[in-house]
Amino acid sequence: AKKQGRNGFRFYQPVMNEEALERLRIEGALRKALERGEFVLHYQPQVDLGDGAITGAEALLRWQHPELGVVAPARFIGLAEETGLIVPIGVWALRTACAQARVWHDARVADGQAPLRMAVNLSARQFSQPDLAQCIADVLEETGLPPACLELELTESVFMDDVTQAVGLLHELKALGVTLAIDDFGTGYSSLSYLRSFPIDVLKIDRSFVNDLATDTDDEAIVVSIIALAHNLKLRVVAEGVESREQLEYLRRHDCDQIQGYYFSRPVGPLQFEQMLRDNKHL
Ligand code: C2E
Ligand code: CA
Ligand code: CA
Ligand code: CA
Repeated sequence: AKKQGRNGFRFYQPVMNEEALERLRIEGALRKALERGEFVLHYQPQVDLGDGAITGAEALLRWQHPELGVVAPARFIGLAEETGLIVPIGVWALRTACAQARVWHDARVADGQAPLRMAVNLSARQFSQPDLAQCIADVLEETGLPPACLELELTESVFMDDVTQAVGLLHELKALGVTLAIDDFGTGYSSLSYLRSFPIDVLKIDRSFVNDLATDTDDEAIVVSIIALAHNLKLRVVAEGVESREQLEYLRRHDCDQIQGYYFSRPVGPLQFEQMLRDNKHL
C-alpha cells in the first residue's frame, strides 16, 4: 500500500482501489498525450514479391513521450484498449494515415505511378463502435483519399463476440470501397469457415510462423497452407516479420504475394518513407 488513510486504517482500501487509481493515472497520461500531439505514426513498407516494388505501407503508432522517448505500442495499446481510449487514438491514427496517404497518392499519380495502399490497424474495441463505418466514411471524405487506397487490418478477435453483427459491419465497410485484411492470421481462436462468408480481401500471415521458416518444417507447412488457402479463396496474402533473405526466398518460391519486415525496412517516419519512394527502392 502506498498511502495510509488519515486515521491510520487502510484495510478498507482494497487493492482494487490502487489498481483503479493506477489505471486512472495511465488513462490521464494517454489522454494528455493525445491532446498534446505526442502520438506519431511510423510507416512500414509492404513490398510486392513479383516486381519487388513498394505497394503500400502499414501505419504503426508510436508515443513520443517527453521523458521516456519513443514508446512502442506494446507498452500502451493494451491499456488504451481497456480504458476505451483506443477509440479516439484510433480515429486520430486513421485520419493521420489517410491524410498522409493522400499526399503520397497524389504525388505518385501525378508521376504516372501505381497508387499506394495505406493499411491501418483497427482494434476490436473500435470494431464494436456502432458508428465505425460512418467515422471511416467521414475520414475518407475529409482527407480525399480514394477508398480503394485504404486497407483496414482486423484481427480474428473481432469475430468472437457477435458474428452476425461483425459480418454486417464488414459489409458496411466493404461498401465504402476499402479493402479488409485479417491481421496475425493463424494465431486467433476462430473457425476457418468465416473466411468463406466474410468479405475479406487479404490474409496477413503472423510473423511467428515466418520467423522459423527454413528451419522449422511445421512452420513451413503452416505458411504454405495459408498461402494455398488464401489463393483458393482468391485472397491476397502478405507475410509479416520477414527478416532474412532465406525467409524471403522461401515465400517467393511458394508464391506469397507480398512481404513486410525488417529485411526490407523497419517502420520509419514519414520523411524516411518518402525518401524510399523517391529512391524507388526495390527488393
Ligand atoms: P501488428 O499489427 O502485427 O504490427 C506489426 C508489428 O511487427 C509492428 O510492431 C512492426 O514494427 C513489427 N515488425 C515488422 N516487421 C518486423 C520484423 O521483421 N521483425 C519483427 N520482430 N517485428 C517486425 P509495432 O509497431 O511495435 O506494433 C505492435 C502492435 O501494436 C501491432 O502489431 C498492432 O497490433 C498494434 N498497433 C500498432 N499501431 C496501432 C494502431 O494504430 N492501432 C491499433 N489498434 N493497434 C496498433
Ligand atoms: Ca497490423
Ligand atoms: Ca500483424
Ligand atoms: Ca502481431
